[in-house]
Amino acid sequence: MNYKQELTYAEDQDGQDELKSYRQQFHIPTDKEGKELIYLCGNSLGLQPKITKEYINQELDDWAKFGVKGHTDAKTPWLSYHEFLTNTMAKIVGAKPIEVVVMNTLTTNLHLLMVSFYRPTKTKYKIVLESDAFPSDKYAVESQLKHHGFDAKEGLIFWKPRKGEKLLRIEDLEQILEEQGNEITLLMLGGVNYYTGQYLDLKRIATAGHAKNCMVGIDLAHGVGNIQPNLHNSGVDFAAWCTYKYLNSGPGSLGGLFVHEKHANNKKLNRFSGWWSHNKSTRFNMRQEFDVLVGAEGWQLSNPPILSMAAIRASLDLFHKVGMDKLQNKSRKLTGYLEFLLNKMTTDKINIITPKETKSRGCQLSIQVKDSDKNLHKQLTKHGVISDWREPNVIRVAPVPLYNSFLDVYNFVKILKSLI
Ligand SMILES: *Cc1c(COP(=O)(O)O)cnc(C)c1O
Repeated sequence: MNYKQELTYAEDQDGQDELKSYRQQFHIPTDKEGKELIYLCGNSLGLQPKITKEYINQELDDWAKFGVKGHTDAKTPWLSYHEFLTNTMAKIVGAKPIEVVVMNTLTTNLHLLMVSFYRPTKTKYKIVLESDAFPSDKYAVESQLKHHGFDAKEGLIFWKPRKGEKLLRIEDLEQILEEQGNEITLLMLGGVNYYTGQYLDLKRIATAGHAKNCMVGIDLAHGVGNIQPNLHNSGVDFAAWCTYKYLNSGPGSLGGLFVHEKHANNKKLNRFSGWWSHNKSTRFNMRQEFDVLVGAEGWQLSNPPILSMAAIRASLDLFHKVGMDKLQNKSRKLTGYLEFLLNKMTTDKINIITPKETKSRGCQLSIQVKDSDKNLHKQLTKHGVISDWREPNVIRVAPVPLYNSFLDVYNFVKILKSLI
């Protein structure tokens, strides 16, 4: 790319951006004077699409109008509401519809999936996790080990960056599997690491794990709507994600999960069940022997919260219109531009730890700050930049292709420069 440092370059790029109209379809937070903030925090909580209110209001209206009959008579009948989300969600993660369902929240789904895919024996029971995994994932995995009667410390193997390095090397995971594969039964890894922004090669991980008879599960909280993980082709056994980060579906909204087609018809898999995992055609007979649904839907438990799903539907409709290809195209340019401008800064105060290769990252760049100077992040916030600080020393910035502009990136770096 022929990036340039001048303001006119950013303005030109925004002018030529085929996705530029989407920014207007989001509520951009403002400061007290009503000036738009530079929002680079879509990796933590995505912004609200303007259509979301309409989608939720539709359900409130139908509830008011129909009461319980909304299950069948609402404009989008509640009984099958989750099915309206499946196709688009499947496309976003590169899966078949039978492999995907929207339900519960992320950590809950990780547990439900481990109930099925973490089946330890006395000798093959260890779980591999990346060393800087998101804390919730670590707690979930530790509690699964304990639940099965293992010592959490002893049962966990960390895949770590080498001494003096920040990123994970896949050869090191392969080495761990080579040496301890007989004791390992599950790989539970973040597809895009929340801290460094590193995007792992899922296919290679699945191949390495399967060669040692391990199940492979991926947390895609930072991947979904950001990169195209091609879950089906990757061959991983299962994955889970939330929808309030890059999928803009609102705080605490429902998550999604993927179970590979190869497990779709395996009714013998251990699992926790509820009436929503039961065969739809006999679900309301209420007296049946349990008959599990095939595919990812078979992991559902409860009838889902429609108001939250309405917000997801609004967001997915936007994603469906744009498509992941165009989003990724712009994303690479936009994040490349941010990287270019940061690299032009002559300072040793900051250092990007996210991989340089576009195939090994999404839109987020993690900026390591010298001497863990948290004040820099405070000052950025004061100057209208919304980013986040992650202990011990990283500012994460994520220019999101749906609503961020080249001008956002330009202005962010201008402010950063003035503060350094
Ligand atoms: C955001 C995030 C979570 C949050 O989990 P919830 O159950 O949705 O609260 C968990 N894991 C990772 C990797 C995340 O990025």
